[in-house]
Amino acid sequence: MEPVMQLKSWIEESKNIVFFGGAGVSTESGIPDFRSQDGLYHQQYDYPPEQILSHTFFVRKPEEFFRFYRNKMLAPDARPNRAHLALAELERAGRLKAVITQNIDGLHQAAGSREVLELHGSVLRNHCMRCGKFYGMDAILNSVGVPKCSCGGVIKPDVVLYEEGLDMDTLNRAVNYISRTDVLIVGGTSLTVYPAAGLIDYYRGRKLVLINRDATPLDGQADLVIAGKIGEVLGEAVGL
Ligand code: NAD
Repeated sequence: MEPVMQLKSWIEESKNIVFFGGAGVSTESGIPDFRSQDGLYHQQYDYPPEQILSHTFFVRKPEEFFRFYRNKMLAPDARPNRAHLALAELERAGRLKAVITQNIDGLHQAAGSREVLELHGSVLRNHCMRCGKFYGMDAILNSVGVPKCSCGGVIKPDVVLYEEGLDMDTLNRAVNYISRTDVLIVGGTSLTVYPAAGLIDYYRGRKLVLINRDATPLDGQADLVIAGKIGEVLGEAVGL
């Protein structure tokens, strides 16, 4: 059977699908990923992006961190694409249990998905490191230099930086969903960022679908590999 048709038929037979995705899910919304040819890691900065997005760098060079973060990690005008919309539709139709994402852009919720596990946090949430006061993305966008709370503390995005741990409750819920799902669709991720990528190992079924533009370490293990743009593939499979 043609791969997208195979995916369509697995989707139509299941009421227990889980999606696991990454930055590639949002490239069709105009947000660059990290590792593609046109991704952020191929652009030139004074420091490598992994270093800028680390906890140590945030503490030692906050001005530099926020310059990069404001320019490259915030996309206030981005809108959900067909991939986000197709996943939201599957949840509404009672077929998909959860979206587990490494993305921090909030586009799954903007598309209408409700059960979204954000492994790496969200740019839409920010807190003062001193008093804990909440701030939205605008507070970061509209500030200059290091964003400060009314109490004088630094406002930190609720984004998991390199060297920081993931939220245990979110990780445990992700493991639960993946270990119980019937169809696991993995897409738009290079599967190189751990521990997130290791979550796939908890899947025990025989319908592991991988939708990605470039090859990944999971290609040999997946039951169905679809090399293509995820918005087009999911859009077609769901009939959007
Ligand atoms: P990555 O950049 O390492 O890999 C992206 C993968 O998606 C690549 O393999 C690429 O081939 C594929 N891809 C790109 N566009 C695609 C498309 N339209 N259809 C199908 N595949 C496509 O991304 P990652 O694995 O998610 O890891 C990077 C980390 O960076 C994550 O932890 C994430 O938190 C963060 N990040 C998030 C965003 C976001 O929130 N939108 C953007 C950049 C990076």
